[in-house]
Amino acid sequence: MTERDSTTIQRSYKFRFYPTSVQRQQLAMELGHARWVWNTCLAWRGRQYRLHDKHVGGVDFSRQLTFLKGLGPYAWLKEASATCLIQKLRDQDTAFRNFFAGRAKYPRFKKRTHTQSIRYQLDQRQVAGRYRAGEFLKLPKLGALKLMWSRRPQGVPKMVTVTQDGAGRYFVSFMCEETLQSLPRKPNGIGVDLGISDVVVTSEGWKSGNPRHLKTHARQLRKAQRRLSRKRKGSVRWHHQRIRVAKAHARVSNTRQDWLHKLTTTLIRQAGLIALETLNVRGMMANRCIAKALGDVGMHELKRQLAYKAQWYGRELVQVDRWAPTSKTCSECGAVQKAMPLKVRQWTCPDCQTAHDRDINAAKNILRLTTGGRPESHARGGVHPLEVVA
Ligand SMILES: [Zn+2]
Repeated sequence: MTERDSTTIQRSYKFRFYPTSVQRQQLAMELGHARWVWNTCLAWRGRQYRLHDKHVGGVDFSRQLTFLKGLGPYAWLKEASATCLIQKLRDQDTAFRNFFAGRAKYPRFKKRTHTQSIRYQLDQRQVAGRYRAGEFLKLPKLGALKLMWSRRPQGVPKMVTVTQDGAGRYFVSFMCEETLQSLPRKPNGIGVDLGISDVVVTSEGWKSGNPRHLKTHARQLRKAQRRLSRKRKGSVRWHHQRIRVAKAHARVSNTRQDWLHKLTTTLIRQAGLIALETLNVRGMMANRCIAKALGDVGMHELKRQLAYKAQWYGRELVQVDRWAPTSKTCSECGAVQKAMPLKVRQWTCPDCQTAHDRDINAAKNILRLTTGGRPESHARGGVHPLEVVA
């Protein structure tokens, strides 16, 4: 572990805001124009490629844009903030880079019903009059936004993204560079078992519980989706129900996100080294149950948060191949049992008479695998540093 007291990180913030009716109109126009630019450029790129085998990008299109603005039929393009349109083209370039690198699907055309966003560049020379953390944010052509500051950011953003989600709510989000004090150093390591009755159990016996309220929200979401499928697409009722579905979606993801943040922060505070199982083993009973509780996204998100928080706070994170028989092995003497059905929560090792809690025992074995365990367990489980997933 490196010797350090503080680190510089990029922390992202997202705040809801309530536009006035004038701002709402302005935003509808900005978002609409940005969408037009995105879709037109996307179509143009596709055509250039198909017909002329030519790769064109945002820079080429912005030249076309300047040309179009000078023509009568396209003069309306001048209503929108020029920087928002340019940023939209840069976003599309990024989307294509991700596509070519195999990280994302081919960029899609945007519809009004999708989540939409525009990005503003904050001029750093004038930023003092435009932004003060926790107090005000003024954007070009929109003026001051009524922001719900739920936290007070440190630092000053360079870019601000304005989003309208499918449920018609508005948000601003931005990144700030911040200095982070390291947590007190911890000499210990913990193993983390991902389980059923508790999502996380550590080798020190800490249990996370299972967020049951998530299930309630998920059930409400499914109900709303079923209702949507029964409505005639495009009708007024369908439109209202679509907004209800979007809100239910947001509720599920917010609750899950809150819960996961608390969980990962708690884990990071507990130890200097955290050993985790690999999560990408499909078809396993335990994984199916966790997936039910948290959703597939939840597992990925758990790992992602642990990875970046470990980096922020100078903790070490390693992962252990799940092929090791962590549940069947006695963490005291190393004896491997023939079978360990999932319903067995407590058991006593026949060899050394130690009484075990199933999950804590598994967590202890996971930790042992990372710190050089017995040869028989080591032969079947490998240890490698967890890659940071962005
Ligand atoms: Zn034993």
